[in-house]
Amino acid sequence: MTENLRIGIPSKGRLSEMATELLHQAGLQFRRQERTLFALVKHLPIDVIFLRTDDIPVLCSEGAIDLGISGSDLVDESGADVAIRMPLGVGHCRLSLCVPEESAITKGEQLDGKRVATSFPHVTRKYLAEHQADAHLVELSGSVEIMISLGVADAIVDLVETGSTLAANRLRVLTDLGHYETVLIQNSRKCRDSEMAERIARRLEGVVIARDYSLLEYNIARDKLSLAEQITPGFNSPTVSALESSEWCAVRVMVKRKDVIATMERLESVGASAILETAINNCRL
Ligand code: AMP
Repeated sequence: MTENLRIGIPSKGRLSEMATELLHQAGLQFRRQERTLFALVKHLPIDVIFLRTDDIPVLCSEGAIDLGISGSDLVDESGADVAIRMPLGVGHCRLSLCVPEESAITKGEQLDGKRVATSFPHVTRKYLAEHQADAHLVELSGSVEIMISLGVADAIVDLVETGSTLAANRLRVLTDLGHYETVLIQNSRKCRDSEMAERIARRLEGVVIARDYSLLEYNIARDKLSLAEQITPGFNSPTVSALESSEWCAVRVMVKRKDVIATMERLESVGASAILETAINNCRL
């Protein structure tokens, strides 16, 4: 092993694909050979290490890797001493306490004396202690959602994204123990190459913001500009340029992608014309 900067990413699953795509978009060119644990990055002194997602927080705090991509749920559960550098805009989920639809349980305190299945024993234990519930924990590494029908548990604590797994197993959410997403983490004490770590963090920030925003361009009469600026205040502020007709101007502004269609309608209603949306591939702000 060299003293290159080490970035740990999940070796399999959906998060592995998302992390690989993010790093590729940030200009890190690497290819994983079958079953190898690490890859060199072309033209940059960086090694990408492929790891189990739930080991990434601990391996980062132990210094085996300098940066890592993992779920904030796993950072919380492991209790690993790492810095969360930034959310990566993907993998949103919540950790929920769930009971059967017909269960009489309505609050955490009623779990006293009951059995709770989970792959998040630390977070769950903390919740139970806060609610003075002395429950038996069934600690598992997966398939938690079927444990009630298997007769192993009275309640479960599991990740929920869309809620379809809960519906399929006739479960309902009692409460949420946390909201999580995919994050970039960093060892908080030492780093093989701090300058490179900052560069990579900045690159990822550019990709994450670009994914979240579109560029809107439109023309508007000068006397309506302040109205239009209220609708599109931009990331920092809009760029306004003159048009041949002195009564009109052109505006370029970043708008959250999810708000673009509604924003176009509002701009049109205050008199804007030639409203164009352009995707942003990357940015530095
Ligand atoms: P859903 O049916 O969409 O609510 O997804 C729930 C299932 O997907 C459960 O089995 C979860 O354990 C798993 N899951 C949901 N979100 C995540 C995530 N961000 N990371 C890992 N597993 C997840």
